[in-house]
Amino acid sequence: MGETRHTRVLIIGSGPAGYTAAVYCARAMLEPILVQGLQPGGQLTITTEVENWPGDTHVQGPDLMIRMEKHARAVGAEIITDYINSLDLSARPFSAQSDSGTVYTADTVILATGAQAKWLGLPSEEKFKGFGVSACATCDGFFYRGKEIVVIGGGNTAVEEALFLTSFASKVTVIHRRDSFRAEKIMQDRLFKNPKVQVIWNHTVNEVLGDEIPLGVTAVRTQNVLTGKITDIPCAGLFVAIGHSPASALVKDQLKLHNGGYVKVEAGSTRTSIPGVFAAGDLTDHIYRQAVTSAGMGCMAALDAEKFLAGHTNHPTLQR
Ligand code: FAD
Ligand code: NAP
Repeated sequence: MGETRHTRVLIIGSGPAGYTAAVYCARAMLEPILVQGLQPGGQLTITTEVENWPGDTHVQGPDLMIRMEKHARAVGAEIITDYINSLDLSARPFSAQSDSGTVYTADTVILATGAQAKWLGLPSEEKFKGFGVSACATCDGFFYRGKEIVVIGGGNTAVEEALFLTSFASKVTVIHRRDSFRAEKIMQDRLFKNPKVQVIWNHTVNEVLGDEIPLGVTAVRTQNVLTGKITDIPCAGLFVAIGHSPASALVKDQLKLHNGGYVKVEAGSTRTSIPGVFAAGDLTDHIYRQAVTSAGMGCMAALDAEKFLAGHTNHPTLQR
């Protein structure tokens, strides 16, 4: 049986949203506890160059996240390497059970557990991740100026990513497993009108082909789902845009969700459907999904939590 720790603010997640919330909460003297989870630093730790973090023309994703962690610690946040495996939001104080055995009880909770891009699950896709295979056009499109790119997917993300990539690429081939997109019609129209775009219907990607030295993508092997015919499509990059999974398993039966599992917050705030529980970053955002927007929401969540606590100072259900 582990110990029980009480905190005024429990922050779950250590991406840009979590660390920014920690900085603001610590500076508000709320003595937050942040639990890092299985991926300390979040999604940016699996990328290399980040070129759109304001103030840094170039920064390595893992380095940026180490700096954020140091910043949060320096201003007094307690950062704990642990994983929350269940969360009870039915009564205050809220209660979080962790893998280490510690039970965290909290007056407020900031959820910043992020989202993970879905991948095809191919060994060759894994091999070339960061070397021609990406799930983020905004992040990596710039590296494909004048080159041919393949995008896989048929939703809004795929169509948006493909359109965005036409600013850099000489040609963008969109491969979709069916004969129609699920993306909004207006987006589809834009895609079909773009002279740089070719759409290949009814195909899957079975393998990513590439060079060993230097490691890089040269083509994707596709298969026609109707005929079984195999075709290799030359390209320098494959963008996988088959959806994102928000990490909302902890709260899926407790909070209102929308758009396939994202935590719903009140417009213009980070307030969830339970007072005292706030959500920030990719966990709640199916549209922007950027480090800077996540950090911005982390700041909002800290300010929302501070305001909530100030309004409930003498509330009998809030422990000190
Ligand atoms: P995340 O970064 O997803 O972090 C979630 C955190 O929650 C993790 O620390 C995880 O360990 C923790 N967690 C999850 N479940 C639990 C649990 N049960 N208990 C405790 N902790 C938990 N954006 C840009 O702006 N620029 C870029 O160049 C860029 N490049 C990218 C490259 C790649 C390959 C990827 C995948 C994304 C990229 N992004 C980029 C997007 C950016 O990484 C995300 O928008 C951002 O990281 C989201 O931040 P977040 O804090 O919401 O969550
Ligand atoms: P999505 O709508 O779930 O679409 C995923 C696409 O990927 C689908 O076309 C799906 O094919 C395909 N796919 C899934 N798994 C696959 C696999 N293993 N192999 C090949 N193809 C696969 O996801 P999304 O496009 O990321 O959008 C998610 C949500 O965010 C949606 O609600 C969307 O509207 C929203 N969104 C909105 C905007 C915007 O408003 N501007 C932008 C981006 C996203 P099938 O069609 O055959 O299922």
